[in-house]
Amino acid sequence: MKTEKLITIEETFGAHNYHPLDIVVRKAEGVWVEDVEGNRYMDFLAAYSAVNQGHCHPRLVKALKKQAARVTLTSRAFRNDQLPFFCEEICALTGFPKVLPMNSGAEAVETAVKAARKWGEKVKGIAKDQCEIIVCADNFHGRTTTIVSFSTDEQYRDGFGPFTPGFVIIPYGDAKALAAAITSNTAAFLVEPIQGEAGIKLPPDGFLKKAEQLCRDNNVLLICDEIQSGLGRTGKLFAFQHEDVQPDAVIVGKALSGGFYPVSAFLAREDVMGVFHPGDHGSTFGGNPLGMAVAREAMKVLAEEKLVENSAKLGPWFLAKLQEMKYKPIKQVRGRGLWIGIVLDRKARPYCEELMKEGMLCKETHENVIRLAPPLNITKTELNMALKRIDKVFKRLGD
Ligand SMILES: *Cc1c(COP(=O)(O)O)cnc(C)c1O
Repeated sequence: MKTEKLITIEETFGAHNYHPLDIVVRKAEGVWVEDVEGNRYMDFLAAYSAVNQGHCHPRLVKALKKQAARVTLTSRAFRNDQLPFFCEEICALTGFPKVLPMNSGAEAVETAVKAARKWGEKVKGIAKDQCEIIVCADNFHGRTTTIVSFSTDEQYRDGFGPFTPGFVIIPYGDAKALAAAITSNTAAFLVEPIQGEAGIKLPPDGFLKKAEQLCRDNNVLLICDEIQSGLGRTGKLFAFQHEDVQPDAVIVGKALSGGFYPVSAFLAREDVMGVFHPGDHGSTFGGNPLGMAVAREAMKVLAEEKLVENSAKLGPWFLAKLQEMKYKPIKQVRGRGLWIGIVLDRKARPYCEELMKEGMLCKETHENVIRLAPPLNITKTELNMALKRIDKVFKRLGD
């Protein structure tokens, strides 16, 4: 009843731009969430990998409260005492020399697009308004008008035109197509090292390495969108490290603040970030002390609790266990680290709904994939519980 009432209110007054599972969460801790009826569930979405550190991490609660009581927002018109350390610490963590903080992932992608274009014009010498950025089919980079301009998902674009020009789309994982698409006007290749929203799609081995070489040979920036794949999700800090490439820039968000507060960032080499001068680009909330304090602590938790290592250790074991499950609807189980897609020969939504009844929250992606992405501090015992629940649902739903 409580649940139904809350859903009715939301549906009455809220825009219908989502189709959530009908569970109303009241509180959460670590891997576990509790609904308004008092039922407990394991969270296997982790807010699209924004809560890699686990829900309501006590250290992040503390950091947020402490900073909230001191100062929350100065705007960038004045300096604050958290931004310098955030910049220093994220550069040390990631190995990039420069960072530009924003709030949502989409804003950081926009920042990358603007940086790439301006670098193309001012550094590479591409003629005014002629810059091209190459992207991949089935990409997901966010929802702004410019970003949906280069989406290949019709629903993301339908009715939202006219679109921003200057993007060239190639099939994901196709190095030959990338080579053919590069022209003297190409400023950047923007790519997800693993496509999350597309269904945890891994490119063919060696693709990123080849892409890196093509970018180097043609003075094209390699920009990795690691908003979902980064910060430990795949068992490395960044998914691009599985192929030992060094992108010219990377975009992070989501888990950067452990799910507490929107913090994203664009990280790049010096000459790329160097295109931004005072007044060129900005955000009222970007780099605010509250977000910076939370993100600093979220990065520390990631390192000190060895969450990347946990993902690397438990992910392959969990993947192997899932691959042992032989049920007719399962076409493939794929993934890296604690980021796994169960690809079905049918719609995944009914499976997600049954899993919810078993106390396990997942969300289908691209119709037929069940995405599994728990907080990275999950234990082997909890993963074993999840395996039992998944097994039960496949048995129940049958062939
Ligand atoms: C979630 C996501 C974004 C967009 O981030 P928002 O915070 O929702 O704007 C961009 N790229 C990737 C790969 C994502 O997963």
